[in-house]
Amino acid sequence: MASGYTLTPWEAKGRIDYDKLIEEFGVERLEDRHFEILQELAGELHPLLRRRFFFAHRDLDHVLADYQSGKGFFLYTGRAPSKSPMHIGHIIPFIITRWFQEKFEVNVYIEIPDEEKFLAKKADSLDEVAPYAEKDILNIIALGFDENRTFIFKDTEYIGRMYRAAVLIARHINFSTARAVFGFDGETSIGLIFYPALQIVPTLFEKKRPLIPCGIDQDPYFRLQRDIAPKLNRYKAAELLSKLVWGLTGPETKMSASEPETAIMLNEAPREARRKIMNAYTGGRATAEEQRRLGGVPEVCPVFHWFSVLFENDDKKLEERFWACKRGELLCGECKTHLAERVERFLVTHAQRVKEAEAKRDKFLYDGKLAQEMWNWEFKLE
Ligand code: SF4
Repeated sequence: MASGYTLTPWEAKGRIDYDKLIEEFGVERLEDRHFEILQELAGELHPLLRRRFFFAHRDLDHVLADYQSGKGFFLYTGRAPSKSPMHIGHIIPFIITRWFQEKFEVNVYIEIPDEEKFLAKKADSLDEVAPYAEKDILNIIALGFDENRTFIFKDTEYIGRMYRAAVLIARHINFSTARAVFGFDGETSIGLIFYPALQIVPTLFEKKRPLIPCGIDQDPYFRLQRDIAPKLNRYKAAELLSKLVWGLTGPETKMSASEPETAIMLNEAPREARRKIMNAYTGGRATAEEQRRLGGVPEVCPVFHWFSVLFENDDKKLEERFWACKRGELLCGECKTHLAERVERFLVTHAQRVKEAEAKRDKFLYDGKLAQEMWNWEFKLE
């Protein structure tokens, strides 16, 4: 618990001070030079990078140097299914991972730890989680990954291939370290205590540097990985760390599936999404007259935040919205209607892509080029 907020892989409470987190977690701030090199290598910068929503890193310089020297790198991310569907905030790491895959033509590994929420006592049975795991997989495929360069695997299914590596990793993690990093206590199931070893396994899949785009709340896993990897003769994980997307209920709140008004689910009915957005907290004034006179406060407005993170690609238009709000030329009702239209459009298109993903699912899990290779993967200490 840092002053005023709690942030672990399981919990985010309170207002997060990202500057403090950089210090506390010992990560580095992304600098202009990183964005310049990425722009040069990729030919463009994704808005999530341009707008510094990804704000911190570990070893990105090494990743870029490895790429430039021809050594290459690979990408790893994941999604722990629970007993509720994915929401819009969950797709951020996948969007940027897909972008890196496309621009740098590298392999992507996506872990679906379908046991984690059960072990964390957030689901009553594995069977309860199973249908959500399948839906999450389709939601992820729908974001446009390359079927021959992407391997998606569920822990309960792929464990046979992972177990040897997990054991070698687990040998190096003492309980006192795990407890300090994750806040385990006497009530924690022993399965959850072993679980970090499984989340580290995919960082060993290739003898290249793994780059992990994720929310900064996931950093603790990879801090452990970075202690262990050299002992197993593998690269320390590099990370590209994002802020967390605000919920609709206020600035710096977190979207949470268990608090439906904070989030839009990927399978939400468009009309319900519109209702939630029209009820969202804003940085607007109490009356239209005041708003015209004083202007709104987009800096604390979740509606503006959503435009900037996901729903306005054009920097110029985003800036125009910012100033129209500030000058009182734009009223919140109109602004929320604009957002609702975009979110509705996104949901309709996404639903169509999820349908199309059904036919491709097995390529990502079993039959695609990378998936086939990975079903023969074995970890060897060299
Ligand atoms: Fe937020 Fe838009 Fe209202 Fe400004 S006009 S406070 S950006 S909802």
